[in-house]
Amino acid sequence: MDETFKTVRIRRELINVIEKYLKSKQSKKHSFTNISQFVEESVRAKLDQLKLSRFEHTNLHENIIRVLDSEIGSTGDYVELVLIDDKIHCRFCEENDCVHIKFVWSDPKLSRNLIAHDLKSPF
Ligand SMILES: [Zn+2]
Repeated sequence: MDETFKTVRIRRELINVIEKYLKSKQSKKHSFTNISQFVEESVRAKLDQLKLSRFEHTNLHENIIRVLDSEIGSTGDYVELVLIDDKIHCRFCEENDCVHIKFVWSDPKLSRNLIAHDLKSPF
């Protein structure tokens, strides 16, 4: 048996919508040729979107920032970042330069808040 592909069941009404789209001029611009290609591209886009949300900022209280990291363990866990003087220290990584700190500075609302606390982005 060919293990390269696996069958997935999709509701007929959704297939009808995709088929209608594939017949449109709009779909030719995106070079979709068949349903499988369209579904694969759509699923890849969704997976990329989900990957971006690995981190979720939960709160900033006093000098502690809590970030939910969905890739710790099997269900994710909270990481605490501590503001010390003009730096941020990650208690999980035991570092001042890690993915959690990069996430914090990449979040527009949070980075504005940190700048208001007289911190400077190292990135
Ligand atoms: Zn970290």
